[in-house]
Amino acid sequence: MSKTATTQAAIPASLVSKLRAQLRGELLEPDTSTYDELRQLWNADVQRYPAVIARSVDVADVIACVKWARSNSIRASVRCAGHNISGAASCEGGLVIDLGPMRGTRVDPVERRIRAQGGCTWGEVDHAAAAFGLGTTGGVNSITGIGGLTLGGGIGWLMRKHGLACDNLVGADVVTAEGDFIRTDAEENPDLLWALRGGGGNFGIVTEFEYQLHPVGPLLAGLLMYPAEQTTELLRFYREFAENEPEELTSFVIVLNAPAAPELPESLHGAPMVALCPAWSGDLDEGEKMMTRLRAFGVPTVDTVDQISYVDLQKGSDEAWQPGFSRYWKSDYLRELPDEAIDVIVNHCERFKPPTAGAGHADLLSIQPTCYFEIGHMGGAISRVGDDESAVGHRDAPYLHGTFAVWREPEDREQQVAWVADLWEALLPYSDGGGYVNYLGEEGEDRIRGSYGEEKYARLVDVKTKYDPTNFFSGQQNIKPRSG
Ligand SMILES: Cc1cc2nc3c(=O)[nH]c(=O)nc-3n(C[C@H](O)[C@H](O)[C@H](O)COP(=O)(O)OP(=O)(O)OC[C@H]3O[C@@H](n4cnc5c(N)ncnc54)[C@H](O)[C@@H]3O)c2cc1C
Repeated sequence: MSKTATTQAAIPASLVSKLRAQLRGELLEPDTSTYDELRQLWNADVQRYPAVIARSVDVADVIACVKWARSNSIRASVRCAGHNISGAASCEGGLVIDLGPMRGTRVDPVERRIRAQGGCTWGEVDHAAAAFGLGTTGGVNSITGIGGLTLGGGIGWLMRKHGLACDNLVGADVVTAEGDFIRTDAEENPDLLWALRGGGGNFGIVTEFEYQLHPVGPLLAGLLMYPAEQTTELLRFYREFAENEPEELTSFVIVLNAPAAPELPESLHGAPMVALCPAWSGDLDEGEKMMTRLRAFGVPTVDTVDQISYVDLQKGSDEAWQPGFSRYWKSDYLRELPDEAIDVIVNHCERFKPPTAGAGHADLLSIQPTCYFEIGHMGGAISRVGDDESAVGHRDAPYLHGTFAVWREPEDREQQVAWVADLWEALLPYSDGGGYVNYLGEEGEDRIRGSYGEEKYARLVDVKTKYDPTNFFSGQQNIKPRSG
């Protein structure tokens, strides 16, 4: 596709100049030297060419962008870190309101709260909070944006103890589809706060998020890795363990081809493995006992479980999830994990064929796992949040699974996508009826509805109709307003 390809009529230069004159931040056009770098999304499989990218530095820039796009009928999308798999942070031929430069944070150590601007990544929030011995649930990578992750729910290492990222969202500053600046919290516009807790970027642009923080000391976390032949036994063990898993423990099981990470012996690089990934955020002596219970499964080939700070844990797998590769993901909540479902997972992972084409393969494998199936035990604090508190669906589902493919050469696309889609389909009989919003690609309205369930979806439509009746924010997992 050419650099200037567009599905929207080209924006006249005079209009672009008008916007530029209103901004403090830089306005990038296709001939700006940094345009190509800054238009890229984390998922290289999605290539979009916006007409302009507004590197917004403050609320005034955001308001100017919204009003300009609205009054000139120009499509706009909102970008935090650009990590969303669907590429919703960008749009073809329109305006990207890029919040990337808005990365300020402010901690209130007395109230244990943090205010973080809409372009922050979790690395910035974790860093600021850790200075006060505090933290909150974020994603498991420091490079992911707080914007999309929080608005879609937000699973992470502290979730079973402190809830999802959005459960800790206590307030937000929002620029509406009219370009108005409003506040939402428990007292002011509480219906909007409910929707922002899981309903995605459908309701406005959050210029500042306010989160509840919690005391977070060193954790016990790492990998217990076994040969893939032990996957069936490990998943059965995990299922039993999950029945009585304490809330201080958040854990996942991952079936993967081991990356060539320095902490893994060379003989394992590329080898099919299964890993139990625990993170204990309670008393460390209790945590050691818990790890002993986990290690009772069998002697691991690799055991990296150790004390680690929350900040370092969050950065731990950044290397393995770098931007610039093509990706395809699919997920669902599971209502159960019977032996039959475990057989499906094992058989499917055994059939995995790594991407092989072209020179890209060697360094692709060197930094990240290719085959990647993950299942996480939910429950705990996640399941105690009431329907009136957030839009997130499937609160009672015990498990969330996701399959994640990566490749570099276009010839590999078909095979990798089919592998993910087939496994997802084979697990449908055990599905709780929907997926996790933040792992959805472009999967259609039914899948969006399924993520929330009919009741919550209807309520989201009400809030959408109130705050964005013309569907100005139509990018991410769009919830359409009622017409008329
Ligand atoms: C490497 C990696 C690791 C991940 N790990 C996790 C994880 O541990 N837990 C988890 O739950 N998810 C995880 N995800 C998924 C993640 O939640 C989504 O990709 C999420 O959308 C990323 O947020 P972002 O702000 O970076 O995305 P962007 O692509 O920038 O934004 C996605 C959409 O969110 C909306 N949006 C973003 N910021 C704002 C804002 N300030 N105001 C209004 N709307 C906004 C916009 O509609 C935008 O289109 C991960 C993704 C990646 C790529």
